[in-house]
Amino acid sequence: MRQLCEKLQQANLRLECSYPEPALVYQQRGTAAGTAWLQSWEICLNPVLLLENQQAFIDEVVPHELAHLLVWKHFGRVAPHGKEWKWMMESVLGVPARRTHQFEISLVRSRAYPYRCRCQQHQLTVHRHNRVMRGGSEYRCLKCGDILTAGDFQDS
Ligand SMILES: [Zn+2]
Ligand SMILES: [Zn+2]
Repeated sequence: MRQLCEKLQQANLRLECSYPEPALVYQQRGTAAGTAWLQSWEICLNPVLLLENQQAFIDEVVPHELAHLLVWKHFGRVAPHGKEWKWMMESVLGVPARRTHQFEISLVRSRAYPYRCRCQQHQLTVHRHNRVMRGGSEYRCLKCGDILTAGDFQDS
């Protein structure tokens, strides 16, 4: 939380902007360490991995996901880990730009893709995710009736 706040201030100073602080949500499941949700301006962290890798989350995961949000605000839609993202990580946030987090994932072995609706995060199986990606299939939340949309970035 403090790291998020500090890195954001650092970025706002360098970019001469005043981007608001994103919400931190601890609902990430599956093998992803975190996801960045652009429209809702949220960073979703995996609580299981967080407990086991606190320092890595502070040093890497939080800045990594924050960089995705900032890149989106600053440049619009670009490649998730492209040159804009690398620049944001290294020149603005001062963190080495590594694409993935190397964690012990023995506790979370389900391979799933994060989706969300208005009320919660969902995990879709690879099979269902592929069907959505190919088009023609959509899934709805049983609680709120929303069509599920895929996470913007999944980092594992
Ligand atoms: Zn829902
Ligand atoms: Zn990423």
